[in-house]
Amino acid sequence: MSNKNEIILLKLGEVVLKGLNKRSFEQRLMSNIRKRLKDDGKFNIYCIQSTIYLEPEDENCDLDYIMSKLKNEFGVVALSRAAECEKNEDAIFEMCRSYLADEMKKASTFKVETKRSDKAFHMTSIELSQYVGGLLAEAFPDVKPQMKDPDLTVCVEVRDRAAYVHGGSVPGAGGLPRGAGGRAITLLSGGIDSPVASYMIAKRGVQLTPVHFFSFPYTSEAAKQKVLDLAQILTRYTGPLRVLIVPFTRIQEEIHAKCPENYGTLIMRRFMMRIAERIAEDSNCKAIITGESLGQVASQTLEAMACTQAASNIPVLQPLIGMDKTEIIETARKIDTFETAILPFEDCCTVFTPRHPATKPSLEAANMAEEKLDIEALVSEAILGIERVWVNDES
Ligand code: ATP
Ligand code: MG
Repeated sequence: MSNKNEIILLKLGEVVLKGLNKRSFEQRLMSNIRKRLKDDGKFNIYCIQSTIYLEPEDENCDLDYIMSKLKNEFGVVALSRAAECEKNEDAIFEMCRSYLADEMKKASTFKVETKRSDKAFHMTSIELSQYVGGLLAEAFPDVKPQMKDPDLTVCVEVRDRAAYVHGGSVPGAGGLPRGAGGRAITLLSGGIDSPVASYMIAKRGVQLTPVHFFSFPYTSEAAKQKVLDLAQILTRYTGPLRVLIVPFTRIQEEIHAKCPENYGTLIMRRFMMRIAERIAEDSNCKAIITGESLGQVASQTLEAMACTQAASNIPVLQPLIGMDKTEIIETARKIDTFETAILPFEDCCTVFTPRHPATKPSLEAANMAEEKLDIEALVSEAILGIERVWVNDES
């Protein structure tokens, strides 16, 4: 399937519903697409009637590769490789016959489906489908027309500018264009949950600043690399990410030495919130994303989460809060982070895990337990020691 008139049609999803903001969403999505394809050639990209048209200027452009990249672009619900032709029924049939010849030969049954957004076109959708379908049935006598569940649906779209022909669409990533919803910190641990949480909020148009708390030498360089590898997988959807690695050893040792053991994990998590909030202030982030799921572990009871969140003054987003582990794993597999996430490296949370963590902690007790710590000094020191690592788009 190759044709010099070949283009990619990208159907927009919720962007279409955004009323007055629609134009700015479309512009943002087009700009995101341009950025994503900046090293892949020259393209003419424009948007008409809630569809983005992507025309390669180079005839030899690898459209399969471009499709595989754009399948991960948030804001797009469906993608089709299509051929453009003149808006008359015979040109449309000719294009179907030549452009979809391979698909027709592979199929035993087919139908033609027409969408007509140019209402001035002289045939109705049904008339055009019947006309093109009839001629195709003659041209490919081995392929039978069948309206219900055919092997191949020949799609014809009659639009303002031209007509387009394709053999169906593949699903896009859905969601909202990257950056349309601002920016948030995401706490990336190296486990299964946090990459899924990151993905879910990124899908709603939020750009991510991943933060990882690193407790060297209690956790190894390999554990840090695992987090960077997970971030790398996320870049398929988010574009390049700058990961902040926060030195966390001293805080963990201080907590271990000076605080009641059963509050250890909770206090550690409160430090994560304080540090994340401080980073957020400096980097225009409006929220903190975590991979917590209600009841999964001792620190994820309602009481524990209330104490954790009380340490932060900005919203904490927990997109997995009502999900079961099996549902989280399903998404982790879908976005391809699962296999990396289950590699066996220690996370800083597991190093100083108390034997009997408080499952119903109170804020009062947490504040008291922290009295022996110089919170401000510990937070400032951790922030000064941050290492920044750019992770670039993998695809
Ligand atoms: P995950 O699978 O994401 O590690 P988890 O089920 O192990 O989550 P916790 O260890 O309680 O749960 O962590 C809850 C959330 O806190 C994580 O999903 C993540 O967002 C954040 N978090 C935990 N440890 C770290 C870390 N070392 N660096 C950054 N964020 C972390
Ligand atoms: Mg974890």
